[in-house]
Amino acid sequence: MAYYAEPLDRLISELSRLPGIGPKTAQRLAFYLLKMPKERVENLTDAIIQAKNSIIYCSICGNFTDTDPCSICQSPYRDKSIIMVVEDPKDVVAIEKTRDYKGVYHVLHGAISPLEGIGPDDIKIKELLSRITPEVKEIIIATNPNVEGEATAMYLARLLKTLQVKVTRIAHGIPVGGDLEYADEVTLTKALEGRQEME
Ligand SMILES: [Zn+2]
Repeated sequence: MAYYAEPLDRLISELSRLPGIGPKTAQRLAFYLLKMPKERVENLTDAIIQAKNSIIYCSICGNFTDTDPCSICQSPYRDKSIIMVVEDPKDVVAIEKTRDYKGVYHVLHGAISPLEGIGPDDIKIKELLSRITPEVKEIIIATNPNVEGEATAMYLARLLKTLQVKVTRIAHGIPVGGDLEYADEVTLTKALEGRQEME
């Protein structure tokens, strides 16, 4: 027996496919959407479609952007000799909020995870290597302080050593097992200031 009319059932099942949304929350959101004025629902769907259609990956750093290259890669005020390597576009936002970092980024779009079958070729490592020119003086590895993030940092450090570029790792202070995006700005600033060269 169906509990909901078919269109409502479909809405709930689509919402429950989003990260962090369980069946109960999906039901609550669906009911809320149905009670919302039609105009607000249209604004919401329009915002989703507009973002989906206009946001692309920066061809240099891999961050989300609506211009290519992104505003950070394009900016004359950013120091192109320092590249910070992060796992996810969300991490760029977290570091940008500290307002302390003036270099550029490289987004890996993941981390090495043998358990999940994610190897070096499955994330944007080749793209990072192609950016290492004599102009680049330092690579700051800011992957998450968990098993996958550490494995990725070690792999990159070994690889980059052969290219004669200085490699640093942001300091701990970000809780082990934690995610960069959830660290507060003071913690992130300290982690960045305390970065150490990788052996
Ligand atoms: Zn970019």
